[in-house]
Amino acid sequence: MKLIDFFKRYPDEQSCRDYFREQRQKEGIICRNCKGTSHCWMKTIEQFQCKECRTRTTLRSGTVMESSNLSFSDWFTAMHLMTSTKKGISAKEMQRQLGRKRYEAVWYMMQKIRVAMGARDERYELSGFTEMDEGFFKTVDSTTKGGKKKKLKRGRGSEKQSPVLVMAETEKVKDPKNHRLSSRCKYFKMRVMPDLTYKTINRIVKDSLSPETKVKTDSYSSYNKLNEVVKKHVAKIVPSDQAGTELPWVHIAISNAKRNLLNNFHHVDDTYLQNYLDEFTYRLNRRYFGEKLFGRLLIACISYCWTF
Ligand SMILES: [Zn+2]
Repeated sequence: MKLIDFFKRYPDEQSCRDYFREQRQKEGIICRNCKGTSHCWMKTIEQFQCKECRTRTTLRSGTVMESSNLSFSDWFTAMHLMTSTKKGISAKEMQRQLGRKRYEAVWYMMQKIRVAMGARDERYELSGFTEMDEGFFKTVDSTTKGGKKKKLKRGRGSEKQSPVLVMAETEKVKDPKNHRLSSRCKYFKMRVMPDLTYKTINRIVKDSLSPETKVKTDSYSSYNKLNEVVKKHVAKIVPSDQAGTELPWVHIAISNAKRNLLNNFHHVDDTYLQNYLDEFTYRLNRRYFGEKLFGRLLIACISYCWTF
């Protein structure tokens, strides 16, 4: 959706609230008191009321917008900009576009949207043929062992390489002209790994792929026990200069994701790397959605049960 069409559709706060209410009703409201699903809308106070126990639910409560002071219009614009821009947008730029004084509120809103994106993609498993490899993303280590924020050192002292497991579901397609088979990518997943042990990799694979998946990797030793969690595992010895041809889609995804992070952020705090990758893969997996993407993201934000 172009910016001009977006503002035609959602010209003010009220139009955003109305659309948000409509979508919430479609998704279904669950009473936090009695778990009842029948509600009526009380127009004067703009709240839902449970038909069973009369408990009221505000428009925002139970959604990603709960406890946010930003307007519906701010949230809508943020979702629009995060889905309509090809390369994403930084929080600083978002703050400028929204004309908000407080950077933190905007930054926090964007992180919440990313978490909702990640939660939506977690519902799906990859299957069929899947390529897999690890990528290393430059991040800043910002927490000490006690969980407190560390004062960043100057220069490269506090930088580290965070390992990420990248999975790409592919399918074979026949070229109608020369009948040659080529591979086409379908969906991606990227998971930050606390370490590179086979146990960690197998746990992530179990959560991300269907047990029927056939997986292709390089011959890295931590992939040795993948057979325990997937149907078939092919480990190929891949010389480093051929990684792009043996596992093409994961490598394209890794280099695009790196470029994307580099362009948008000065540095990526390792605590939030998963959120940035979730945004990247959310858009990548829906690259053919076009104008529908905004509506889908809104539903992801409504249905994400917020317990932050
Ligand atoms: Zn109730």
